[in-house]
Amino acid sequence: MTPSPVWRPFTQHATEAEPPVARRTHGAVIETDRGPLIDAISSWWVITHGHSHPPIMAAIREASERLDQVIFAGLTHEPAESLARELVALAPRGLTRVFYSDSGSTSVEVALKMALGFWRNTGRARHRIAVIEGGYHGDTIGTMSVGERGVFNVAYEPLMFAVDRLPFPAEGGTEMLSAFEALAAGGDMAAIILEPLILGSGGMRMYGPQVLEGIRRICDRHGVLMIADEVMTGWGRTGEMWACDHAGIAPDILCTSKGLTGGAIPLAATLATEEIFQAHWSEDRSRTFFHSSSYTANPLACAAGLANARIWAAGGMQARLKAVAAMQSERLAALARDDRFADARQTGTIAAIDLKVEAAGYLAAVGQRLRAHALERGVLLRPLGNTVYVMPPYCITGDQMDRVWGAISGFPA
Ligand SMILES: *Cc1c(COP(=O)(O)O)cnc(C)c1O
Repeated sequence: MTPSPVWRPFTQHATEAEPPVARRTHGAVIETDRGPLIDAISSWWVITHGHSHPPIMAAIREASERLDQVIFAGLTHEPAESLARELVALAPRGLTRVFYSDSGSTSVEVALKMALGFWRNTGRARHRIAVIEGGYHGDTIGTMSVGERGVFNVAYEPLMFAVDRLPFPAEGGTEMLSAFEALAAGGDMAAIILEPLILGSGGMRMYGPQVLEGIRRICDRHGVLMIADEVMTGWGRTGEMWACDHAGIAPDILCTSKGLTGGAIPLAATLATEEIFQAHWSEDRSRTFFHSSSYTANPLACAAGLANARIWAAGGMQARLKAVAAMQSERLAALARDDRFADARQTGTIAAIDLKVEAAGYLAAVGQRLRAHALERGVLLRPLGNTVYVMPPYCITGDQMDRVWGAISGFPA
């Protein structure tokens, strides 16, 4: 056979073997041509309830009997309208407007544009953006600009815009908060964008909810917009519906994507306050929010999102999240006693630990070897350099969890 023409994401084709072929998905399992795999990373963090979750797949099937894509400017449809109402009801208080797009990156681009549009339309053209070191917000030029710079994006640096970088909020975040206060006091800061409680791609680095409260207070004092990128943390990942809920705060703009459809189909939404929406409301057409993508509010995706939102609105997810968190902490605690590992940490359903190595960082070869070791044992892992993490679908069983953690502890490091 001729080699596959597919150019894969984040894949070095020169060194990586041809991947297994996925044939069927259910629960925490991906059936492949080489046997079943336990999906310990929720297929890059998107699968929440489980693969091919029946109510979500049924909603897609039913919607597809009635609708395909319809233009979302000048037309609307029931799945998008109902989902928007559910999202406003589920979101932190004060987020009353829902703008649809189709990926986490796009939802962040939309958030940044809303923030700058807000300032321009209210006559104070603020444009500086504050970010947290080690953050990740996507792989488009704009989202790379607000994310960590490194080996992933050094080639594209000339295209990126400048931002103000704040240190990671270690140990209560005092240093980070005072740096932010000093910047915000300058009066020209448009917004701060952050991943609440846990920096995902940046190595599963975690910080406490009191930092979010501190950031909210500083934003209020200096009129800076707070953008919470909940693309990874939303839909229960941190143990609450939203990571911001741990701090009891509401951002001015919230981005959601990965778990929005339970992971079945791409969809994203950027939620904004009434004030930001109203800044774009005008007889003057130049104040329109000039953004769209062809597939805005795809009806099949919105139907999936609606089925998912109704599961959360019905309640009862809390017990499941607690059960997953408890299964994780028990196994993480056991591994923490193994002196080949360091810095065991957990937020809700996400557990992470570092393999002690000479050369840490994303390109650390040890991660690749652990991934291969797990794959041979029917477990799908994808360490971030020397950081191993487990972020399973919420339906995972104790036995499956044992196999996942067994693959990690059995690694001949
Ligand atoms: C994955 C991720 C994104 C980007 O989402 P895509 O759907 O991959 O574009 C943005 N922000 C955070 C926090 C993420 O984890």
